[in-house]
Amino acid sequence: MWSLFGRGFAHNIYSYVFRARRLRADNQPCKPPKAAPEPHSKIVDVCCEGMLVKIIPARANNYMYLIKDLPTGCTAAIDLSDNKILFEILKKEELKLSYAFITHHHEDHSGGTTELAAACPDVKICAGDERIKCVSNFLKNDDKFKVGEMTVNCMHTPCHTIGHYCYFVECGAGGPPALFTGDTIFQGGCGGFMEGSPEQMYAIVNRLMALPKESRVFGGHENTIPNLRFAETIEPENSNISSRLSWAKDQRECKLPTPPSLLCEEKLWNPFFRVDHPDVQKYTGETDPIYTMFCLRKQRDTFK
Ligand SMILES: [Zn+2]
Repeated sequence: MWSLFGRGFAHNIYSYVFRARRLRADNQPCKPPKAAPEPHSKIVDVCCEGMLVKIIPARANNYMYLIKDLPTGCTAAIDLSDNKILFEILKKEELKLSYAFITHHHEDHSGGTTELAAACPDVKICAGDERIKCVSNFLKNDDKFKVGEMTVNCMHTPCHTIGHYCYFVECGAGGPPALFTGDTIFQGGCGGFMEGSPEQMYAIVNRLMALPKESRVFGGHENTIPNLRFAETIEPENSNISSRLSWAKDQRECKLPTPPSLLCEEKLWNPFFRVDHPDVQKYTGETDPIYTMFCLRKQRDTFK
C-alpha cells in the first residue's frame, strides 16, 4: 500500500511521463505500420437488424469498418487505415460512401483522409483533432449525424489521444447499437494513455457503461488474446476471462476477427471495466478505482 506521499509522487511521475510521451507521440502511429503479406483476418459482415457492419482487416492488426444502413443503402466508414482495400470493397459491392468518421489522428487510423478527399470530394470526413488532414466536419462532443436511418453519435473520449472520438451508432430499425471505440477500448483491454490520465479513462468507462448493455463493441485493433492473457494474470479465478480467451484462440486459428463483444460482457472480463471490483483492487493493492486504473495500465504497458 502506498503512503499518500508515495501515491502523489508516483502519480506526478506518471503524468510527467505521459506529457513527455505526448510530445514525442504527435503524428506518430501507435505502432509502426507494417505491410502484412496476407490480411491478418477474414472480412466479416455482422448484421444487426437494419444495420450491417463490415469488419475489414488492415495493416498488421488494425480494423477499419463500414456501416451500411440496410433500408437506404447509405454507407459510412469508421477509420481509414487502408484505402486500397476500402475502394475495392466499395466498388465490388457497389456501395456509395457518404461519410468517414475518424477515431483519432494516429496514422494507422487516419492515414487515408487525403487520398479519400481527393478521390471522393463529396464524402464528408468527420474528426475531432486538428492533426488530421482534410477534415470537412470538425467534431464537438455529442454531435450527431444521420446516415440513412442510422444515427451516429460522436463521443469525445480524450485519453489515448486528446482528440479521440468514439462513435455510438443506433440503427433506425431499433436493433442493437454499435459502438466503435478506436484505440480507447478494446475487447478485454484499453488503449495506452498516451495523452491522458487514469481519471480520464475511468470517466470514459463509466460514460460507456451508461449506454445500452447490448451495444456491440468494435475496437480498432485485433489484440483480444494478449488483453485477456493480461486479464487472466489479474483474476486467475474469473471463468469469464478463461472461457473468452479460449474462444478467442479458436477464432484466431480460423483467422476470424474477435470483435464485436457486448458492452455488458466487457464488464465481466475487461480489468479496466472492473477497477471497482475487490479482486482487481486486491491484485493492485489499491482501494481507490483511479489508482487501480493507474496500476493496471502501468503493468499492461510492460506486459509481454
Ligand atoms: Zn492510436
